Amino acid sequence: MAESTPKTLVMKFGGTSVGSIEAMNQVTRIVQSTRQEWQNLVVVASALNGVTNLLLETATRSAQGDRSAYLGAAQQLQTRHEEMIDALIPDPARAALVKSQVSEWVSEFSARCQAMAVLAEATPRAMDAIASLGERLCVRVLAEVLNSAGIPASPVDATELIITDDNFQSAHPDLAATERATRQRILPLFARGEVVVATGFLGATPEGIPTTLGRGGSDYSAALLGAALPANDVWIWTDVDGVMSADPRLVADAQTIPQLSYREVSELAYYGAKVLHPKTIRPVIEAGVGLRVCNTFNPTHPGTRLVSDSNSTDGIVKAVTAIRGLQLITIEGRGMLGVPGVAARTFGAVAATGTSVPLITQASSEQSICFAVPVESARSVLAALQNTFAYELASRDMDRIWATSEVVIVTVVGAGMRNTPGIAGRIFSALGEHKVNVIAIAQGSSEVSISLIVDAADTRSAVQTLHELIVR
Ligand code: ASP
Ligand code: MG
Repeated sequence: MAESTPKTLVMKFGGTSVGSIEAMNQVTRIVQSTRQEWQNLVVVASALNGVTNLLLETATRSAQGDRSAYLGAAQQLQTRHEEMIDALIPDPARAALVKSQVSEWVSEFSARCQAMAVLAEATPRAMDAIASLGERLCVRVLAEVLNSAGIPASPVDATELIITDDNFQSAHPDLAATERATRQRILPLFARGEVVVATGFLGATPEGIPTTLGRGGSDYSAALLGAALPANDVWIWTDVDGVMSADPRLVADAQTIPQLSYREVSELAYYGAKVLHPKTIRPVIEAGVGLRVCNTFNPTHPGTRLVSDSNSTDGIVKAVTAIRGLQLITIEGRGMLGVPGVAARTFGAVAATGTSVPLITQASSEQSICFAVPVESARSVLAALQNTFAYELASRDMDRIWATSEVVIVTVVGAGMRNTPGIAGRIFSALGEHKVNVIAIAQGSSEVSISLIVDAADTRSAVQTLHELIVR
C-alpha cells in the first residue's frame, strides 16, 4: 500500500508567543500536539518581544558615539535568555551549551556596537547584522527547549534559507533561490524526523551577508518558507484570536472573523489592522498554501482562515478599521478645471517630501484634489505645494491649499459589498443617525472596501456605528 504523502506545516510564533517562560511552555505544548497530525513541521520564531527594539536602539545610540550603550543591553540580553534556559532546560550539559551559544551572539552584539561607536556610523547593512541577533538567540533557546521536552528539533538560521537582494532592512527575496536553499537544507531534517526551528525576519544575500525583511517580517518569512517547501498550511500564532472585526479597544463586541479572503485581508492590512505583515499573503496564495491566524494563548480557538477570493462569500461587511493621525490636504481653484498635469505635479511634490499618501479623492468637477497625509508630514507637504504652485496661486488659477484638523480614515471591508446594492446608502444613513459627519469618501476599484474620512473626535462613534452593519 502506498504511503500517504507526509503533511507539512509551517507555524510562526511572534515575539509575545516566545517572550516568557510560560509562553515558551505553551509553544512547546502546541508543537507537541500539532506533531500528532503533521509529520513535517517548521517552527518560525521571532525574537523575544522587545529584543529587536533593544538591539536597534542600542545600535543607534552606539553610532551616535555612546561607547557604553551596549553594556546594559548586553547584560539584559544575556539575563533574559539565561533565565529561560535555567527554567526550561533541566539537563546541565545542554543548558551550558546553549548558554555558551547565547554568550557568543551577545559578544558579537557588543563587538558590533563598539565598532559602530568608533566609526560613529550605522549603515543599513550593519544594522541588519545586529537586528538579526534577536531571532538567532531565540531559535537556539527554543530548539533546545523542545529537545528537552522530548521533541527532536534543530535550530536553523534563515540566512541559509531565504536568499535576498542587498536592499538591507527591507530585503526582497529571490523566490527561486530561496526554494532551492530551503528544500536542500530542510528536507534532510524532515527525513530525520526533526522539527525545524527557523529564525523569522532574516535572510542573506547570495554571498551570505545577513539581511532582514523589514520590521514585523517574521510572518513573511513563514509565508516564504511555506511556499518554498511547499507546505500544506501556514499558521501564524499570535496573541489574539485571529483577525478581529474591529479593534476591541474601540468596539466591545468585536469578534473573530472566521473566514476572510486574501483580498479582504490585504485591504485590512493596508488599512491599519496589524495582524499579518502585508507581504505575507502573496507567496502563500501563489503557491496555493492555506493560511490561518490563531492565538498561542487560546489554542483551541479556530482563529481566522484565509481563503481564495472566489471561495469567500459569507458576510457583506466583515471588518471596520481606523487609521489615525492624519490630516486632509485640499488644493482648490476654478483654474484647475481641465488643466492637465495638476495631479502629477501635486503628487510629485508630495513624493519629494518622502510622504506616502493613504487616500486620494477628486471630485469630477476637477476643482479640487484632496488627499490624506500623516499629521507629522502635513506642514512640509503644505510648504512643498505652496512652492510648486507659487505661480498658479499668484495668478489666482488656484485659490488655496489648506489642511484640515486631525482626521481618521475609517474603512469598511467585505467582498460581499460588491454584489450588494445600497450598502453605501446604509453606511451613510447609519453614520447620519449617529451624527457623524463624513468629510470625504473613497472606494477602491476592487469594491472590497469603502473608506471614509471623519474627524478624529468621531473615531469611536464611527467605528462602532459601522461595526453594527456586520451581518452574521
Ligand atoms: N523581531 C522582528 C521585529 O520585531 C520581526 C518580527 O517580530 O516579526 O520586527
Ligand atoms: Mg509581529
